[in-house]
Amino acid sequence: MPTTYTDLIADVRKSIRTVPLEEIKARLEAKKPMVLVDVREKEEFRQGYIPGALSVPRGFLEMQIEKAVPDKSAPVVLYCAGGTRSALAARTLNELGYANVESATLGFVRWKDSGFPVERPPELSDAQRARYSRHIILDEVGEAGQAKLLGSKVLLLGAGGLGSPAALYLAAAGVGTIGLVDLDVVDASNLQRQILHATSRLGVSKVDSAEKAITDLNPDVKVVKFEERLDSSNVERIFKGFDIVVDGCDNFPTRYLVNDASVWLNIPVVHGSIFRFEGQVTTFMPRQGPCYRCLYPEPPPAHLAPSCAEAGVLGILPGIVGTMQATEAIKYLLGKGDLLKGRLVCYDSLRMKFRELKLRRDPKCPVCGESPTITEYIDYEQFCAI
Ligand SMILES: [Zn+2]
Repeated sequence: MPTTYTDLIADVRKSIRTVPLEEIKARLEAKKPMVLVDVREKEEFRQGYIPGALSVPRGFLEMQIEKAVPDKSAPVVLYCAGGTRSALAARTLNELGYANVESATLGFVRWKDSGFPVERPPELSDAQRARYSRHIILDEVGEAGQAKLLGSKVLLLGAGGLGSPAALYLAAAGVGTIGLVDLDVVDASNLQRQILHATSRLGVSKVDSAEKAITDLNPDVKVVKFEERLDSSNVERIFKGFDIVVDGCDNFPTRYLVNDASVWLNIPVVHGSIFRFEGQVTTFMPRQGPCYRCLYPEPPPAHLAPSCAEAGVLGILPGIVGTMQATEAIKYLLGKGDLLKGRLVCYDSLRMKFRELKLRRDPKCPVCGESPTITEYIDYEQFCAI
């Protein structure tokens, strides 16, 4: 039995596997699967850490590691400042049943001195810590997640029924940049459901009215306005730079254009649609799940297109559906939860029921399939005035 600190450490070092810093750097560069765990104190972690590392301070290791690293067969690399705390932590993880644990020889001090890449947690201001405190105390968000949201860019197609709740909740959540594409002006008949707008802004362009509402709610948010109609000539310019698109347009020509741009530019689209008392939501993840054309390869011929007589809609309905879309966007930006990839949620407000349908990817899809036949944007004819 070891009797002194020196003996204990020597004993521990013999019982664990170690890995040199150069090897860790090489694995990072090769993007080899590895869970890097920084066991230093939070205060030390805040000063900088090895890129991609999780912070689980040594003092909380036993309590937090199973949540942070649920897979006990995962390759785990621990490090601290000098190599001692991580060695002790490695032995603890072995005892907890982790099968593939290594401790970095030396540690962050040498890593930094060697000029290896260092990441710093983004700094939130005191005002931001207060504003987003209910996010920050969620393990799934935390300061890092909130900083991610603040650095994210979401494009909303339409500042109408679906875009309204989506924009307001995304702004409240602190999504740093919100793009809005809409050509309309605020009309009295919009106000029954389009809660971004207001009676005092009747006749104002929807993007300006939305910007007012969003920046009143949260001055952290930058609004990028596109007062234009989406078509083949501008879709790439508008989409570029955005992390995810929330589609509240709900007309056929746009839907195909949005889909093709999403696949080609590799930008996910959260699709929502509403009709009378019913709504639907799904998330199209390019090449990971079905795209819109996997389901409907071409628009229907004009004479078979659904009637476009103006349909009524329960004012609250887009509130539910648009909020679900915003939820998907936030989950995607945080990298948390299960997206509606390959799943269509159908909501019936009259019966207050949710159903889920499976959507499948089509290997023969003309856009995302194995041998695509559509490789250029197509401006389909507007089936009716919307
Ligand atoms: Zn497809």
